[in-house]
Amino acid sequence: MIHLENIHKTYNPGTANALHVLQGVNLDVADGEFVSIMGASGSGKSTLLNILGILDNYDEGNYFLAGRLIKNLTETQAARLRNELIGFVFQSFNLLNFKTALENVALPLYYKGISRKKRNLLAMEQLDRMGLRDWATHLPNEMSGGQKQRVAIARAIVAQPKLLLADEPTGALDSKTTVEVMDVFRQLNAEGITTVIVTHEQSVADATNRIIRIKDGNILDNAILDIKY
Ligand code: ADP
Ligand code: MG
Repeated sequence: MIHLENIHKTYNPGTANALHVLQGVNLDVADGEFVSIMGASGSGKSTLLNILGILDNYDEGNYFLAGRLIKNLTETQAARLRNELIGFVFQSFNLLNFKTALENVALPLYYKGISRKKRNLLAMEQLDRMGLRDWATHLPNEMSGGQKQRVAIARAIVAQPKLLLADEPTGALDSKTTVEVMDVFRQLNAEGITTVIVTHEQSVADATNRIIRIKDGNILDNAILDIKY
């Protein structure tokens, strides 16, 4: 699903503030894997995930996603590939506060040109499986953190992506809700979505099938030892 070769990323290149965040990252994630990326704050986890999610560019190397080289894309091309292949979940949920849960979940389908009736039907299906049918007409600020994150996950998967990326998805949740949200990810992965979760919490990483460690701008060589199928 994911093949990274010698990925480099520098912020503010050519200035006194230049920061070489990714220093030749090589990484493979196979179809159907359930992996976590761990590392200290500032180690480049979000930078790496944003590149994987085609939300940001890289400077050097090659990124292949589902067999396609992701490089030098226009914003339109990037958006199209994101819509087709990727679901993204953020620590802070990133829901639209003036839209209901149902409208939030249905939004990616709007960009796919699906009719309003079908959008609402598909969005309700996803809310239902998240146990949130009764919350469909509620606004995000009427919901708990765990509920908001389940709405965000429903939104991320409603268009049936091949790859689900989550950046510290439990970072704003208590430990009980964290376990519930990780159970949701595990269930989705069991249904076939390749899932990559960035975290600095060991318990979250332990809930995945492989832990990838990032340090000083690179993936640690011993990451392979963490595989535990
Ligand atoms: P992590 O997610 O592991 O905490 P990040 O990938 O967010 O790390 O950031 C890695 C480093 O790059 C940090 O030092 C951060 O301050 C810096 N950084 C992140 N985004 C930007 C940006 N847009 N411009 C400049 N520096 C950035
Ligand atoms: Mg981060």
